[in-house]
Amino acid sequence: MSSNDPDCPFCGIVAGEIPGRIVAETDRTTAFLDANPLAPGHTLVVPNDHHERLDDLGEDLASEVFATLHRLTPAVEAAVDADATTVAFNNGPAAGQEVPHVHGHVIPRFSDDGGAPIHVVAGDRPDLSDDELDAIADRIGEH
Ligand code: 5GP
Ligand code: ZN
Repeated sequence: MSSNDPDCPFCGIVAGEIPGRIVAETDRTTAFLDANPLAPGHTLVVPNDHHERLDDLGEDLASEVFATLHRLTPAVEAAVDADATTVAFNNGPAAGQEVPHVHGHVIPRFSDDGGAPIHVVAGDRPDLSDDELDAIADRIGEH
């Protein structure tokens, strides 16, 4: 049983209703080229079912999405002769997620591409004390 959203472009690509340059498929995931690539070979990996955020995925499906990313990343690098890749999820609108269907970006990187590491994506850096860091670590561990 699959679930999809009629307004979602990625559900449309998975269903074959919207054109997409599909590069890999498994039973429960699909990978296709980004329509507005940040670099040649920019690829998106999605679960076939419509889920908005990473924590909406069951553990099996999350593992399958990661397995597809893992298998595809060297293939993308080889296809465009990239030096590296940035592999990332915008997980929620405040993080810049525009399409509300979980998708992992595989962005080929080149030593002279003028880009930046993932550290630049957040806002101002907080100045946290050791106590604050300890309390945050405890709260994360409790979940
Ligand atoms: P987000 O900001 O949600 O993490 O990224 C959405 C990505 O999906 C963008 O990089 C955008 O270029 C891509 N995108 C949006 N609509 C379509 C579409 O209809 N087809 C494809 N192939 N990519 C899309
Ligand atoms: Zn969808």
